[in-house]
Amino acid sequence: MIMQPIRDAYDVVIVGARCAGAATAMLLAALGVRVLVFDKSRLGSDTMSTHALMRPAVLLLHRWGITDRLDAEETPRIRKTTFVYSSEEERRCLEIDIRPRHGVGALYAPRRTVLDRLLAEAARDAGADVRHWLQMLDLLHDRGGRVRGVKVRDETGRVQEVRAGLVIGADGRRSNVARLVGATPYVWGRHGTNCSFGYFDNLPVDGNRWYFRPGMGAGAIPTNDGQTLVFASVPEAAALGSASARNDAFHEVIAESAPDVADRLPQARLDGKLRFFPAMRGFLRQPWGEGWALVGDSGYMSDPITAHGITNALRDADILARTIAEDAKLADYQTARDDLSLKFFEISDRVASLDWDISTVQQYHQLMSQEMSREEDAITAAAGASATAA
Ligand SMILES: Cc1cc2nc3c(=O)[nH]c(=O)nc-3n(C[C@H](O)[C@H](O)[C@H](O)COP(=O)(O)OP(=O)(O)OC[C@H]3O[C@@H](n4cnc5c(N)ncnc54)[C@H](O)[C@@H]3O)c2cc1C
Repeated sequence: MIMQPIRDAYDVVIVGARCAGAATAMLLAALGVRVLVFDKSRLGSDTMSTHALMRPAVLLLHRWGITDRLDAEETPRIRKTTFVYSSEEERRCLEIDIRPRHGVGALYAPRRTVLDRLLAEAARDAGADVRHWLQMLDLLHDRGGRVRGVKVRDETGRVQEVRAGLVIGADGRRSNVARLVGATPYVWGRHGTNCSFGYFDNLPVDGNRWYFRPGMGAGAIPTNDGQTLVFASVPEAAALGSASARNDAFHEVIAESAPDVADRLPQARLDGKLRFFPAMRGFLRQPWGEGWALVGDSGYMSDPITAHGITNALRDADILARTIAEDAKLADYQTARDDLSLKFFEISDRVASLDWDISTVQQYHQLMSQEMSREEDAITAAAGASATAA
């Protein structure tokens, strides 16, 4: 396919074309906004992330027609979540069937190679100009200091300036847009977990399985290609300097917290290597300013232990796109984001300490479940309000 040249100007330019950026582009383009969304990585490439989706995320994907595409990619439908809490003294097992609500009767945990590609394709289908292998080098400003566009470089080395009414940074937790506009965090997490994970063949599991034991967390999650994602988390203070130390820690956590998985690991086959994410404390950054906004991890990152980053990214893409479409103040976007985030963030941070007893972490999960219901209600109410306005 012959690509048209990138235009000199768009209404909105979005840096980063994964779950936050592609979803925002899709929603804006569907409303007739002229959008450029681009990423320095390849379409369909992987990224450092596990990918369990919570109900609010699936609700949005269902509404956007993406769950049909996930089904077409044979992404397993997850109909049960099991929490296994254990300590030296006791073991508690809580099985939850995923009951249909708001049209959602199953969860998903699509590989990022699948989810991010489907969202980018949906953005293109909606009319956005979607580019990969394109890197933002700098922001453009007017004399008053307002952000007015981006300077980009394509894979041939050609540098171009692109003007925009609004530049959105969807460029992840180490966001360059945030750095260039000086968007600093105003809430910081106090804890972070080290996470190792890998993809296993021949290790079927019945739904999502989450394991919590003082000092550690783990999970076994069904995903694409018949594989099971297995992850293990330990506190940030753990000494994991070498690959062998990380490998040992992974197997120790699985053996202690998830013996039903550990028993079957010898017959399973690890596809490639274990991946390792060193602890990084979460934050909420100022997500807007003159001519710019942040969405996804660039504006709000929570620890992977509570598996909520993609859900946040999709939810905030929805809020930001509505804010822009309604010509409302970007401050309203921040208010709505923080209203749905601050309590969850605090609980997530406590879970990430891995310093609790099993009754306490169970309470944290109940509180998180309440917050997720609030998210679902907010998403549903916002869609209802838009439908009425239309
Ligand atoms: C170990 C780990 C496990 C996780 N597990 C889960 C989980 O189970 N469930 C869950 O919901 N969340 C999970 N998360 C969180 C999730 O990965 C993030 O919340 C999510 O990726 C945020 O999406 P995003 O689109 O904001 O940013 P990213 O996915 O980080 O995408 C940012 C994109 O911006 C691009 N970019 C950056 N700079 C530039 C530039 N200058 N020019 C062009 N492009 C640029 C990058 O190439 C990248 O593709 C996990 C995270 C980690 C680290």
